[in-house]
Amino acid sequence: MIGFNHALVGALIGKVLPLPLALPVAVASHFVLDALPHYGLPHRQRDVSKAWKIVFTVDFFATAALIVPAAATHHYAMLACGVAAVLPDFVWVGRVVKNRSFDLSNNQNWYTKWHAKIQRYERPWGIWIELPLAGLLFVVFCAALQN
Ligand SMILES: [Zn+2]
Repeated sequence: MIGFNHALVGALIGKVLPLPLALPVAVASHFVLDALPHYGLPHRQRDVSKAWKIVFTVDFFATAALIVPAAATHHYAMLACGVAAVLPDFVWVGRVVKNRSFDLSNNQNWYTKWHAKIQRYERPWGIWIELPLAGLLFVVFCAALQN
């Protein structure tokens, strides 16, 4: 699942649940979303796919940009829970930087093996689930920032 959708779901959890309960629920939401059908390419295709790089780059900056309206409107629980919901994917960042590759198929520890395994419905057509979901979640997120 793209980081943008993880962050938005986490932020909305931070809106409706009290702290500190919202934080572990936001982290758990990450794995629920990863188990649903979502966008992804076979690992070996990622390094050569222009579409993957575009989606990754846009997603990275769009997700990071969500911090601005949450902080500017003082919705710090939404901000913290949005970050918490994205955190489980940070385990991949070190590998991507170290190996200069998005091939995450060779997993050595129980966490990355399990995290990769639950994403069995990761498919290229998943973008057509993620984009409408992103639009819907963003509208709800903007509404949640209003009060
Ligand atoms: Zn994940």
